[in-house]
Amino acid sequence: MSCTKTRVTGPVTFLPAQSYPPLAPGDITHWISDKRDSAHKCSHGRSFCLRELGSGLISSFIFFVVSPIMLYLFHPYARERNLAVHLVWFMMIFVGLFSLYFHMTLSYVGQMLDEISILWVLAIGYALWFPRRHFPFFIKDRSTFSWMVLVITVVTTLSSFIKPTANAYALNCFAIHILYSLGIELRSCTDQRVLRLARVSIGLWVMAISCWISDRFGCSFWQRLNFCYLHGIWHILIVVATAYGSTLIAYLDANYEIPYSLPDLRYWPRESWALGLPYIVLKGTTKTQKKC
Ligand SMILES: [Zn+2]
Repeated sequence: MSCTKTRVTGPVTFLPAQSYPPLAPGDITHWISDKRDSAHKCSHGRSFCLRELGSGLISSFIFFVVSPIMLYLFHPYARERNLAVHLVWFMMIFVGLFSLYFHMTLSYVGQMLDEISILWVLAIGYALWFPRRHFPFFIKDRSTFSWMVLVITVVTTLSSFIKPTANAYALNCFAIHILYSLGIELRSCTDQRVLRLARVSIGLWVMAISCWISDRFGCSFWQRLNFCYLHGIWHILIVVATAYGSTLIAYLDANYEIPYSLPDLRYWPRESWALGLPYIVLKGTTKTQKKC
């Protein structure tokens, strides 16, 4: 996974060899560094932190570990609510694949695919879970809203190939709108377990972004300390943050959309673990009062 700010523009050649840190034998980044000498027409305009990208390459596998678990854990809720819920974590597998591809090739296309797949994850979550009562006045139901989001996402995806920043704009618009409505929801929430879930989600997200920023701007500093795992840690944190964030939003949604199923929060694999993966269980089918 890369972030929008790392965007590379236009065909640029690799950095001169002296810009790269010395590589230890067997270092995964040897593989990446070989790319600069090969005939491969990779294009990059910024000084990638090669060792960081090496840890990023390995940690991309976190997507293939967490996504199937979340697909499994979300299944009862998805069956009751809408099977399209599975698209979120199904698409996260593609984010992992494109992230892997990007880290292996360091190509512009790899970065584009990586970022576009993130847009699609956000768009699916936005279409599925954005609270109905916050719909714009001209939208009457969720299917109209979903169609609107789909059209915007398709247009953005296509225009990304002409103007790469289009993706970043749409991504930020979706994210800000989701965060805004989530903030309103949480303000009136008194359920301590929901608030804990929200706190951990925000904490993970802040840590993930800090790692990414540090990796992006403090590359030489971390290299001097010989600590080359920030990009890898970013991947792991953002995947776990997505698990927490998506469960939080899905749980709030379940309380409004399928309250009769008595949604409740659980953690996998153990309830007592400090940082398990959160999910929703449905305890019943009778009408009940919503908590949040
Ligand atoms: Zn990455």
